[in-house]
Amino acid sequence: MNKRLLLLPGDGIGPEVIAQAEKVLRTLVTAGDLPCIDITTGLIGGCAIDMHGTPLPDDTLAMAQHADAVLLGAVGAPQYDNLPNDKKPELGLLSLRQAMGVFANLRPAICHSALVHSSSLKPDLVAGLDILIVRELIGGIYFGQPRGIIEENGERVGINTMRYAEHEIIRLGRAAFAAARRRQGRLCSVEKANVLEVGMLWRDVMTVLGRDEFPDIELSHMYADNAAMQLVRAPKQFDVIATGNLFGDVLSDAAAMLTGSIGMLPSASLDDKGRGLYEPVHGSAPDIAGQDKANPLAAILSVEMMLRYSLNASVAADKVSAAVRQTLNDNYRTADIAGDGDSIIGCAAMGQKVLDYL
Ligand code: NAD
Repeated sequence: MNKRLLLLPGDGIGPEVIAQAEKVLRTLVTAGDLPCIDITTGLIGGCAIDMHGTPLPDDTLAMAQHADAVLLGAVGAPQYDNLPNDKKPELGLLSLRQAMGVFANLRPAICHSALVHSSSLKPDLVAGLDILIVRELIGGIYFGQPRGIIEENGERVGINTMRYAEHEIIRLGRAAFAAARRRQGRLCSVEKANVLEVGMLWRDVMTVLGRDEFPDIELSHMYADNAAMQLVRAPKQFDVIATGNLFGDVLSDAAAMLTGSIGMLPSASLDDKGRGLYEPVHGSAPDIAGQDKANPLAAILSVEMMLRYSLNASVAADKVSAAVRQTLNDNYRTADIAGDGDSIIGCAAMGQKVLDYL
């Protein structure tokens, strides 16, 4: 049976970058690098609110739940900023992640040699950087109960609860160990076992999992504060980092900045059956939407991750990453990654360059 793929272009620059990503997929199929896939398109975010009054219409959700993979552009636009939280475009994305049960968020931070000068760190610290952060996405302190703001002794008290059950750590750990097995075979598990009971449990569960199921992977442990320091001191020491929702949120954004532009960063969110939600890390960029200025590479690299993790097509994935590398090496640049004196091309032309190299 053909693999089923759902495209959700969303708002702002989402449709522009997804159009380029879709061309990459169709080119791979035409060239015989990928078996036929069934591609459908749906609405999410602000465009879904305009059409159906809700950011995640029922038919979008149903299509996502039947798809092997979902490729999403971005959601959100200024005209929706004053809506109540439960009506905002961003809720569509959060609800979709929950409904798909995608608990493992994979964020690579790769510094392409042609872009070393875009990083905030010295070139020798980031040249050749290739790390992967695996963040738990649907548990931990962002979802733990009890939560809220209560009155106590005449003042307000804010409460959130960090909690992880063993099964949540194990399923995240398996995804991270498996990712390390496809790479250099090294996994660093990050928590705060020195002050948090959740961290003590996390460390214990990861140690047993590594010993029993992944003895071939080199497992190390690090406190989250030290991991933040090490990421900006010597980021190349890492291969794969596995961590919970809160620390992963912070560390993956720090790692992202090592690579230069937000327009280069893909992500994958996986369930335990290899189904995934793939999306560029960037938002809908209303400041450049509709102007053919967006960098489509984050969306195209999200396709690369989809090929690897959900479509079992690593040869096609390697071709996409080689085409992106060649495009950068030959000095084609959108505005966000251009240096002094570089000539700048638009979103569609950048996508076309990748297709030419494919
Ligand atoms: P943003 O990522 O949209 O933009 C931040 C800056 O980066 C802007 O200057 C933008 O022009 C630039 N940028 C982003 N992507 C780019 C690309 N591909 N090429 C070139 N430049 C790019 O973040 P923001 O401005 O904080 O948010 C804008 C809207 O996007 C808001 O409504 C926000 O809620 C939403 N948002 C959505 C997602 C998502 O869909 N996953 C993520 C973040 C923000």
